[in-house]
Amino acid sequence: MLNGFLNTLFPETCPVCKNRARDHETAPICSACWQEVSPYKGPLCRRCGKPLVSEESATCGECIQDEPAFVYARSFGLYEGALKKAINFLKFYGIKRLSKPLSDIITQIKLPQVDAVVPVPLHEKRLRQREFNQSALLAKYLAESLGTDVVVNCLVKIRDTRPQVGLSSQERRKNLRKAFDIKQRELINGKNIMLVDDVVTTGATVRECSKVLKKAGAKNIYAITLAHGVMD
Ligand SMILES: [Zn+2]
Ligand SMILES: [Zn+2]
Repeated sequence: MLNGFLNTLFPETCPVCKNRARDHETAPICSACWQEVSPYKGPLCRRCGKPLVSEESATCGECIQDEPAFVYARSFGLYEGALKKAINFLKFYGIKRLSKPLSDIITQIKLPQVDAVVPVPLHEKRLRQREFNQSALLAKYLAESLGTDVVVNCLVKIRDTRPQVGLSSQERRKNLRKAFDIKQRELINGKNIMLVDDVVTTGATVRECSKVLKKAGAKNIYAITLAHGVMD
């Protein structure tokens, strides 16, 4: 039991295949499992990027009913396997070095040309607890690869909302209402923006952030996330 506990704190074996994995860029995920991480290629909603069960890509009912403020949203892959493990090690165990390989894989998908990369913010209380915003790290490296600016402290979270887990799509939206605001509007006004987050589930967060950015004068907004989760 102690070994299991230590392994969680200082993992030496790959959480996916249980082989030894140390001194590797993506550790504790071993290089073999990391190689398996691949972009989602199945049918999706052309607008919000939600994976669809149908054969073809189309626009989902939610996007038809309530048009999002973003031009489109896309995720690199599905929130499962090694990708899910890597995101969780970054987020909950604070293994920050994973943010570089995680942001690198995003560049495997077709990305829009933008003027600025903006991370989905954390409320300052959460930021103090976690000590870093995983989305800001991803945004920083992504901006570096794209040769563009990262803009932090512009889109801010002004209300500490309760966790979205276990809430319905409608409840999630209600929970996020008036949770975000813009400081220093000039940083995004008239600009094409890439909004970056780690995981998207119902899309409530990127929808709300896009709405706020658009209202503050952003031109075209594209929401790019690492992984698309399934509604729990
Ligand atoms: Zn492995
Ligand atoms: Zn959609």
